[in-house]
Amino acid sequence: MRILVQKFGGTSLSTSEARDHVVSHIRRELENGFRLVVVVSAMGRKGDPYATDTLLELAAEGQGFLPPREQDLLMACGEMISAAKLCSLLAECGVASTVLTGAQAGFRTDSHFGNARILEIVPTRVLEELEQDKVVIVTGFQGQNLTGDFTTLGRGGSDTSATALGAALHAEIVDIYTDVNGILTADPRIVEDARPLEYVSYAEICNMAHQGAKVIHPRAVEIAMQSGIPVRVRSTFSEGEGTLVANPEGFKDVQLGIVDRYVTGIAYVANVTQIRVEAAGKGADNLQLQVFKAMAENAISVDFINVTPTGVVYTVFDKDALKAESVLNALELSPQFLSGCAKVSVIGGGINGVPGIMAKIVEALTEQNIQILQSADSNTTIWVLVHKDDMVQALRALHDKFELGR
Ligand code: ADP
Ligand code: ASP
Ligand code: MG
Repeated sequence: MRILVQKFGGTSLSTSEARDHVVSHIRRELENGFRLVVVVSAMGRKGDPYATDTLLELAAEGQGFLPPREQDLLMACGEMISAAKLCSLLAECGVASTVLTGAQAGFRTDSHFGNARILEIVPTRVLEELEQDKVVIVTGFQGQNLTGDFTTLGRGGSDTSATALGAALHAEIVDIYTDVNGILTADPRIVEDARPLEYVSYAEICNMAHQGAKVIHPRAVEIAMQSGIPVRVRSTFSEGEGTLVANPEGFKDVQLGIVDRYVTGIAYVANVTQIRVEAAGKGADNLQLQVFKAMAENAISVDFINVTPTGVVYTVFDKDALKAESVLNALELSPQFLSGCAKVSVIGGGINGVPGIMAKIVEALTEQNIQILQSADSNTTIWVLVHKDDMVQALRALHDKFELGR
């Protein structure tokens, strides 16, 4: 059985015109001889009826508090509405389909509501339905814990449902359909001349996704990478094949192109706060330990960590800054806070050892009078922290400097 997994994101399902495109992608692949598993997200984005954010807003009205378990139950509804709608559209054109919830499709997760990890997938029911020649529509983003409660896989988690199912079913390929023509050198909403990439390696896009490129969930890429399933990121609104994600060895004809490019793309994470804590007479070793232990104990995630002989500098999300301040004040430290920052990343497998990349970054930013608040590098990424007001200009300047555009 040749199995293909197709995943359709929120904007791909939000209007009847978009849904017509979805149906035509399904029909084309059936004609190509595939058995299809179609993973759907909730329709639309914030403000649209049935979108995940809209459901969350509904729960946030008034003074009540919705516990995490019940919040997952609520969020799971969006995908079920999409799935049922798609089933009826397929029936209209004579395509037999069946809808399975995450639990029915065999997703077993831990109980970390809102961000559950998949423990295993037992896709018996999916296979049975495929054998009966049905298109199997699976509600993305959800699973079931060991006590039978609904769980969700973290925002953007339908991508993870798709690649995890692809791996469990030994699918030939997983197609992630979205509202852009594949993976681009930067977010096209910010960098207008961002260029679609024909091929990227799992490592390249995994890095970009971790650094904020929202086009695919990083966990989804990790799962595909572990099982070696190729993924295509492509547009619902065109017939283009988008970007192929696989191991470079898979790209025999273009392997050199991939290996040769040292910068793949630019990504960003907005809304972070820089925190600086100086030892001021106390032993710095003790201070470093105290700070990071306290952050961990209070479940505050830290990033961009620079440890110096006299103190520490790091970032937290703006939303966690107040909590971090009270934790540090309780330790009688005197932290300095700079909110409204953005982390901009230059990503590429070949950065390591190429001379002059940092110089180019500094040149691009200083030419625009953009202040670099902090920087760090690894063998695949160089990060700079800038004021959020400078972020868009910084992304465009770096994109130009590395000649990533069309
Ligand atoms: P979906 O609802 O289909 O899952 P998302 O909004 O999660 O869609 O992801 C698609 C969006 O990702 C695009 O609209 C685009 O603005 C954004 N994006 C960010 N970085 C990139 C990038 N490097 N390439 C393509 N799209 C990107
Ligand atoms: N509907 C979920 C979300 O908005 C999952 C997804 O879209 O992938 O996060
Ligand atoms: Mg998404």
